Amino acid sequence: MIPASFDYIRPESLQDACRVLGEAASAGDDVKALAGGQSLLPLLRLRLAYPAALVDLGRLPELRGVEDRGDHVFIGALTTHDEVVRSRVVREKAPLFALATATVADPAVRHRGTFGGSMAHADPAGDLPAVAVALDCVFVVRSGEGEREIPAAEFFVDYLEPALEPGEVLVGVRVPVLGAGWGFHYEKFHRTAQSWAIVGVAAAVRKTDGAVEEARIGLTNMGPTPVRAEAVETALRGVDLAPPATGGTDPVREACAEADDGTSPPADLHAQPDYRRHLARVLTARAVRAAGG
Ligand code: FAD
Repeated sequence: MIPASFDYIRPESLQDACRVLGEAASAGDDVKALAGGQSLLPLLRLRLAYPAALVDLGRLPELRGVEDRGDHVFIGALTTHDEVVRSRVVREKAPLFALATATVADPAVRHRGTFGGSMAHADPAGDLPAVAVALDCVFVVRSGEGEREIPAAEFFVDYLEPALEPGEVLVGVRVPVLGAGWGFHYEKFHRTAQSWAIVGVAAAVRKTDGAVEEARIGLTNMGPTPVRAEAVETALRGVDLAPPATGGTDPVREACAEADDGTSPPADLHAQPDYRRHLARVLTARAVRAAGG
Protein backbone atom coordinates (compact mmCIF):
# COMPACT_ATOMS: atom_id res chain seq x y z
CA MET A 1 0.00 0.00 0.00
CA ILE A 2 1.00 3.62 -0.40
CA PRO A 3 1.28 5.78 2.75
CA ALA A 4 -1.03 8.74 3.30
CA SER A 5 0.76 11.95 2.33
CA PHE A 6 3.03 13.60 4.89
CA ASP A 7 5.51 16.47 5.06
CA TYR A 8 9.18 15.58 5.16
CA ILE A 9 11.60 17.63 7.27
CA ARG A 10 15.34 16.99 7.46
CA PRO A 11 16.96 19.05 10.23
CA GLU A 12 20.69 19.74 10.06
CA SER A 13 21.30 19.66 13.83
CA LEU A 14 19.95 17.92 16.91
CA GLN A 15 18.90 21.31 18.28
CA ASP A 16 16.91 21.95 15.13
CA ALA A 17 15.29 18.49 15.32
CA CYS A 18 14.27 19.12 18.96
CA ARG A 19 12.85 22.53 17.99
CA VAL A 20 10.77 21.13 15.11
CA LEU A 21 9.49 18.20 17.17
CA GLY A 22 8.82 20.48 20.17
CA GLU A 23 6.82 22.99 18.13
CA ALA A 24 4.77 20.17 16.58
CA ALA A 25 4.12 18.70 20.03
CA SER A 26 2.94 22.09 21.39
CA ALA A 27 0.63 22.52 18.40
CA GLY A 28 -0.76 19.01 18.97
CA ASP A 29 0.43 17.83 15.53
CA ASP A 30 1.26 14.16 15.03
CA VAL A 31 4.89 14.37 13.91
CA LYS A 32 7.24 11.38 14.08
CA ALA A 33 11.01 11.06 14.13
CA LEU A 34 12.36 8.90 11.31
CA ALA A 35 15.55 6.86 11.79
CA GLY A 36 16.14 3.75 9.63
CA GLY A 37 12.45 3.51 8.70
CA GLN A 38 12.44 -0.29 9.08
CA SER A 39 9.51 -0.26 11.51
CA LEU A 40 7.91 3.12 10.88
CA LEU A 41 7.65 2.94 7.09
CA PRO A 42 5.84 -0.44 7.10
CA LEU A 43 3.34 1.07 9.59
CA LEU A 44 2.79 4.00 7.23
CA ARG A 45 2.38 1.74 4.22
CA LEU A 46 -0.20 -0.36 6.09
CA ARG A 47 -1.88 2.91 7.15
CA LEU A 48 -1.58 1.90 10.78
CA ALA A 49 0.10 5.29 11.29
CA TYR A 50 -0.46 8.50 9.34
CA PRO A 51 1.63 11.29 10.87
CA ALA A 52 1.34 14.79 9.41
CA ALA A 53 5.13 14.97 9.05
CA LEU A 54 8.31 12.91 9.43
CA VAL A 55 11.42 14.49 10.91
CA ASP A 56 14.37 12.62 9.42
CA LEU A 57 17.18 12.25 11.96
CA GLY A 58 19.47 10.63 9.37
CA ARG A 59 21.77 13.65 8.94
CA LEU A 60 22.59 14.14 12.62
CA PRO A 61 26.13 12.91 13.33
CA GLU A 62 25.67 13.69 17.06
CA LEU A 63 23.38 10.65 17.27
CA ARG A 64 25.68 8.19 15.55
CA GLY A 65 28.57 6.05 16.83
CA VAL A 66 29.84 4.03 19.77
CA GLU A 67 32.05 5.48 22.52
CA ASP A 68 34.04 3.71 25.20
CA ARG A 69 33.55 5.89 28.30
CA GLY A 70 35.33 3.68 30.83
CA ASP A 71 32.61 2.43 33.16
CA HIS A 72 30.04 2.44 30.36
CA VAL A 73 29.71 2.25 26.59
CA PHE A 74 27.58 4.91 24.93
CA ILE A 75 25.72 3.73 21.83
CA GLY A 76 24.28 6.59 19.77
CA ALA A 77 20.65 6.18 18.75
CA LEU A 78 21.36 6.43 15.03
CA THR A 79 24.05 3.74 15.04
CA THR A 80 22.87 1.01 12.69
CA HIS A 81 22.51 -2.60 13.80
CA ASP A 82 25.33 -3.50 11.44
CA GLU A 83 27.64 -0.90 13.03
CA VAL A 84 26.78 -2.25 16.50
CA VAL A 85 27.60 -5.82 15.49
CA ARG A 86 30.90 -4.76 13.90
CA SER A 87 31.98 -2.41 16.70
CA ARG A 88 35.08 -3.67 18.52
CA VAL A 89 34.06 -1.64 21.60
CA VAL A 90 30.61 -3.26 21.70
CA ARG A 91 32.00 -6.74 21.16
CA GLU A 92 34.56 -6.32 23.94
CA LYS A 93 32.72 -4.16 26.47
CA ALA A 94 29.01 -4.78 25.80
CA PRO A 95 29.03 -8.20 24.09
CA LEU A 96 25.42 -9.05 24.92
CA PHE A 97 24.29 -6.29 22.53
CA ALA A 98 26.60 -7.62 19.80
CA LEU A 99 25.16 -11.13 20.24
CA ALA A 100 21.51 -10.04 20.27
CA THR A 101 21.87 -7.53 17.44
CA ALA A 102 23.46 -10.16 15.20
CA THR A 103 20.14 -12.05 15.36
CA VAL A 104 18.03 -9.06 14.23
CA ALA A 105 16.38 -9.73 10.86
CA ASP A 106 18.73 -9.92 7.86
CA PRO A 107 21.72 -7.90 6.57
CA ALA A 108 19.51 -5.50 4.60
CA VAL A 109 17.46 -4.55 7.67
CA ARG A 110 20.59 -4.39 9.83
CA HIS A 111 22.20 -1.91 7.44
CA ARG A 112 19.23 0.50 7.63
CA GLY A 113 17.66 -0.16 11.04
CA THR A 114 19.10 1.63 14.04
CA PHE A 115 19.84 0.83 17.66
CA GLY A 116 17.77 3.78 18.89
CA GLY A 117 14.91 3.05 16.50
CA SER A 118 14.59 -0.45 17.96
CA MET A 119 14.44 0.98 21.47
CA ALA A 120 12.09 3.89 20.66
CA HIS A 121 9.76 1.56 18.75
CA ALA A 122 9.41 -0.45 22.02
CA ASP A 123 8.25 -3.62 20.32
CA PRO A 124 8.36 -6.40 22.94
CA ALA A 125 9.29 -8.84 20.15
CA GLY A 126 12.39 -6.75 19.39
CA ASP A 127 15.61 -8.34 20.56
CA LEU A 128 17.38 -5.30 21.99
CA PRO A 129 14.95 -4.05 24.70
CA ALA A 130 15.38 -7.26 26.76
CA VAL A 131 19.15 -6.74 26.73
CA ALA A 132 18.75 -3.13 27.89
CA VAL A 133 16.55 -4.26 30.77
CA ALA A 134 18.89 -7.10 31.77
CA LEU A 135 21.93 -4.80 31.84
CA ASP A 136 20.20 -1.85 33.59
CA CYS A 137 21.02 0.51 30.75
CA VAL A 138 20.23 4.21 30.95
CA PHE A 139 18.43 6.05 28.13
CA VAL A 140 19.50 9.61 27.35
CA VAL A 141 16.79 11.75 25.74
CA ARG A 142 16.79 15.37 24.59
CA SER A 143 14.13 17.98 23.92
CA GLY A 144 14.03 21.78 23.68
CA GLU A 145 13.83 21.76 27.51
CA GLY A 146 17.17 19.96 27.89
CA GLU A 147 18.37 16.43 28.54
CA ARG A 148 17.06 13.75 30.90
CA GLU A 149 17.93 10.15 31.70
CA ILE A 150 15.52 7.23 31.96
CA PRO A 151 16.49 3.86 33.48
CA ALA A 152 15.72 0.90 31.19
CA ALA A 153 13.26 -0.49 33.76
CA GLU A 154 11.12 2.65 33.21
CA PHE A 155 11.68 3.23 29.49
CA PHE A 156 9.36 0.50 28.15
CA VAL A 157 5.94 1.58 29.39
CA ASP A 158 3.60 -0.59 27.32
CA TYR A 159 3.25 -2.25 23.90
CA LEU A 160 4.96 0.08 21.36
CA GLU A 161 4.96 2.78 24.05
CA PRO A 162 8.31 4.15 25.19
CA ALA A 163 8.61 6.71 27.98
CA LEU A 164 9.38 9.45 25.43
CA GLU A 165 7.34 12.63 25.74
CA PRO A 166 6.13 14.30 22.53
CA GLY A 167 9.03 16.36 21.19
CA GLU A 168 11.75 14.20 22.77
CA VAL A 169 14.53 12.53 20.80
CA LEU A 170 16.42 9.47 22.03
CA VAL A 171 20.08 10.49 21.84
CA GLY A 172 21.61 7.18 22.89
CA VAL A 173 21.94 4.54 25.56
CA ARG A 174 24.53 4.11 28.30
CA VAL A 175 25.46 0.45 28.68
CA PRO A 176 27.20 -0.35 31.99
CA VAL A 177 30.41 -2.33 31.49
CA LEU A 178 30.28 -5.45 33.63
CA GLY A 179 33.69 -6.37 35.00
CA ALA A 180 35.74 -9.53 34.60
CA GLY A 181 34.17 -12.93 35.17
CA TRP A 182 30.91 -12.28 33.33
CA GLY A 183 29.69 -14.45 30.45
CA PHE A 184 26.91 -13.56 28.02
CA HIS A 185 24.44 -15.27 25.73
CA TYR A 186 21.31 -14.38 23.73
CA GLU A 187 19.07 -17.36 23.01
CA LYS A 188 16.40 -16.74 20.37
CA PHE A 189 13.68 -19.14 19.33
CA HIS A 190 12.31 -18.18 15.93
CA ARG A 191 10.53 -19.86 13.07
CA THR A 192 13.16 -19.12 10.45
CA ALA A 193 16.75 -17.93 10.73
CA GLN A 194 15.99 -14.27 10.04
CA SER A 195 12.58 -13.82 11.65
CA TRP A 196 11.36 -12.25 14.88
CA ALA A 197 11.71 -13.98 18.24
CA ILE A 198 8.82 -16.14 19.36
CA VAL A 199 10.66 -15.92 22.68
CA GLY A 200 14.17 -14.64 23.37
CA VAL A 201 16.37 -14.70 26.48
CA ALA A 202 19.26 -12.33 27.21
CA ALA A 203 21.53 -13.71 29.92
CA ALA A 204 24.58 -12.34 31.73
CA VAL A 205 26.13 -14.67 34.30
CA ARG A 206 29.07 -14.25 36.67
CA LYS A 207 30.37 -17.41 38.23
CA THR A 208 32.86 -18.32 40.93
CA ASP A 209 34.22 -21.85 41.29
CA GLY A 210 31.72 -23.16 38.77
CA ALA A 211 28.64 -21.75 40.56
CA VAL A 212 26.53 -18.71 39.75
CA GLU A 213 27.42 -15.65 41.80
CA GLU A 214 25.11 -13.24 39.99
CA ALA A 215 22.79 -13.48 36.99
CA ARG A 216 20.83 -10.97 34.94
CA ILE A 217 18.06 -12.21 32.70
CA GLY A 218 15.84 -10.29 30.26
CA LEU A 219 12.98 -11.87 28.29
CA THR A 220 11.82 -10.97 24.78
CA ASN A 221 8.18 -11.31 23.73
CA MET A 222 6.81 -12.53 27.06
CA GLY A 223 4.44 -9.57 27.58
CA PRO A 224 3.75 -6.04 26.33
CA THR A 225 7.20 -4.92 27.50
CA PRO A 226 10.53 -6.71 27.97
CA VAL A 227 10.60 -8.58 31.28
CA ARG A 228 13.36 -8.98 33.86
CA ALA A 229 13.24 -12.56 35.24
CA GLU A 230 14.02 -11.59 38.82
CA ALA A 231 12.77 -14.82 40.43
CA VAL A 232 15.23 -16.80 38.32
CA GLU A 233 18.08 -14.40 39.08
CA THR A 234 17.52 -15.03 42.80
CA ALA A 235 17.03 -18.79 42.42
CA LEU A 236 20.25 -19.12 40.43
CA ARG A 237 22.52 -17.72 43.15
CA GLY A 238 24.99 -20.42 44.21
CA VAL A 239 23.71 -22.95 41.67
CA ASP A 240 26.36 -25.24 40.19
CA LEU A 241 26.59 -24.83 36.42
CA ALA A 242 28.14 -28.25 35.78
CA PRO A 243 25.92 -30.59 33.72
CA PRO A 244 23.91 -32.92 36.01
CA ALA A 245 24.87 -36.56 36.43
CA THR A 246 22.95 -38.90 34.14
CA GLY A 247 19.43 -39.36 35.51
CA GLY A 248 19.97 -36.70 38.21
CA THR A 249 17.99 -33.49 38.62
CA ASP A 250 19.33 -30.41 36.90
CA PRO A 251 19.65 -27.50 39.37
CA VAL A 252 19.84 -24.96 36.52
CA ARG A 253 16.56 -26.22 35.00
CA GLU A 254 15.00 -26.15 38.48
CA ALA A 255 16.12 -22.55 39.08
CA CYS A 256 14.78 -21.53 35.68
CA ALA A 257 11.36 -23.12 36.30
CA GLU A 258 10.03 -19.71 37.34
CA ALA A 259 11.22 -17.88 34.24
CA ASP A 260 7.63 -17.15 33.23
CA ASP A 261 6.74 -15.68 36.65
CA GLY A 262 5.06 -12.30 36.29
CA THR A 263 4.88 -12.53 32.49
CA SER A 264 1.81 -12.19 30.26
CA PRO A 265 2.88 -13.74 26.97
CA PRO A 266 0.82 -12.96 23.86
CA ALA A 267 -1.12 -15.40 21.69
CA ASP A 268 -0.52 -15.10 17.95
CA LEU A 269 -0.20 -17.18 14.80
CA HIS A 270 3.12 -18.59 15.96
CA ALA A 271 2.51 -19.56 19.59
CA GLN A 272 -0.02 -19.65 22.39
CA PRO A 273 0.84 -18.24 25.85
CA ASP A 274 1.40 -21.71 27.42
CA TYR A 275 3.88 -22.63 24.74
CA ARG A 276 5.72 -19.33 25.24
CA ARG A 277 5.85 -20.02 29.01
CA HIS A 278 7.38 -23.42 28.31
CA LEU A 279 9.90 -21.84 25.92
CA ALA A 280 10.86 -19.19 28.47
CA ARG A 281 11.74 -21.89 31.02
CA VAL A 282 13.70 -24.06 28.61
CA LEU A 283 15.48 -21.22 26.81
CA THR A 284 16.43 -19.48 30.04
CA ALA A 285 18.20 -22.62 31.29
CA ARG A 286 19.93 -22.92 27.92
CA ALA A 287 20.99 -19.27 27.91
CA VAL A 288 22.29 -19.42 31.50
CA ARG A 289 24.38 -22.52 30.76
CA ALA A 290 25.78 -20.96 27.58
CA ALA A 291 26.57 -17.65 29.33
CA GLY A 292 28.11 -19.44 32.32
CA GLY A 293 30.00 -21.92 30.19
P1 FAD B 1 12.23 3.67 12.50
O1 FAD B 1 11.42 2.66 11.78
O2 FAD B 1 12.74 4.82 11.72
O3 FAD B 1 11.44 4.22 13.77
C1 FAD B 1 10.76 3.37 14.65
C2 FAD B 1 10.07 4.19 15.73
O4 FAD B 1 11.04 4.78 16.60
C3 FAD B 1 9.26 5.36 15.20
O5 FAD B 1 8.15 5.56 16.05
C4 FAD B 1 10.19 6.55 15.31
O6 FAD B 1 9.51 7.79 15.43
C5 FAD B 1 10.95 6.21 16.58
N1 FAD B 1 12.34 6.69 16.62
C6 FAD B 1 13.36 6.21 15.88
N2 FAD B 1 14.51 6.79 16.26
C7 FAD B 1 14.19 7.65 17.26
C8 FAD B 1 14.96 8.53 18.09
N3 FAD B 1 16.29 8.64 17.98
N4 FAD B 1 14.30 9.26 19.02
C9 FAD B 1 12.96 9.16 19.15
N5 FAD B 1 12.19 8.34 18.42
C10 FAD B 1 12.81 7.59 17.49
N6 FAD B 1 13.84 -6.18 15.06
C11 FAD B 1 14.30 -7.06 15.98
O7 FAD B 1 14.62 -6.66 17.08
N7 FAD B 1 14.41 -8.41 15.68
C12 FAD B 1 14.07 -8.91 14.47
O8 FAD B 1 14.22 -10.11 14.25
C13 FAD B 1 13.57 -8.00 13.48
N8 FAD B 1 13.19 -8.44 12.27
C14 FAD B 1 12.77 -7.55 11.32
C15 FAD B 1 12.43 -8.02 10.05
C16 FAD B 1 12.03 -7.14 9.08
C17 FAD B 1 11.69 -7.68 7.72
C18 FAD B 1 11.95 -5.74 9.37
C19 FAD B 1 11.54 -4.75 8.31
C20 FAD B 1 12.28 -5.26 10.62
C21 FAD B 1 12.69 -6.15 11.62
N9 FAD B 1 13.04 -5.70 12.90
C22 FAD B 1 13.48 -6.61 13.83
C23 FAD B 1 12.91 -4.28 13.26
C24 FAD B 1 14.25 -3.55 13.02
O9 FAD B 1 15.13 -3.89 14.06
C25 FAD B 1 14.10 -2.02 13.01
O10 FAD B 1 15.32 -1.52 12.59
C26 FAD B 1 13.80 -1.35 14.30
O11 FAD B 1 12.68 -1.90 14.92
C27 FAD B 1 13.49 0.15 14.13
O12 FAD B 1 14.63 0.86 13.84
P2 FAD B 1 14.60 1.99 12.73
O13 FAD B 1 15.88 2.74 12.84
O14 FAD B 1 14.29 1.40 11.42
O15 FAD B 1 13.43 2.96 13.27
